[in-house]
Amino acid sequence: MDCVFCKIANGEIPSTKVYEDDKITAFNDLNPQAPVHILIIPKDHISCINDINSENSDVIAHIFEKIPQIAKYAGLENGYRIISNCGKDAGQTVFHLHFHLLGGKILGEGLV
Ligand code: 5GP
Ligand code: ZN
Repeated sequence: MDCVFCKIANGEIPSTKVYEDDKITAFNDLNPQAPVHILIIPKDHISCINDINSENSDVIAHIFEKIPQIAKYAGLENGYRIISNCGKDAGQTVFHLHFHLLGGKILGEGLV
């Protein structure tokens, strides 16, 4: 499968990793939209939230258990925002499930 985030997860494409373990990896977004913009992904390919199921949902829990640690490491003591785009209407461009961790400034009140 020709998936850019699978390639980042297995090291075929370089990235600036900020966290990694056997199940997930977190790396800086190539086009940051905030002073801190980290993408957190499961290493195994899941296309988007629609494809989370009882077989693979443990990795989602794992991601959310690690987010506070990644945010703290990134200096986001005052808060952060998590976004996951699912599908083309949401603007998803990479169809490997990822969570945007955004912060480092006061983010706007609006979500969209
Ligand atoms: P989406 O629009 O699918 O929610 O977000 C995809 C994100 O992946 C975008 O913010 C984009 O900048 C980022 N991105 C796309 N290709 C690469 C890449 O090769 N490396 C990194 N680090 N980020 C990427
Ligand atoms: Zn993938």
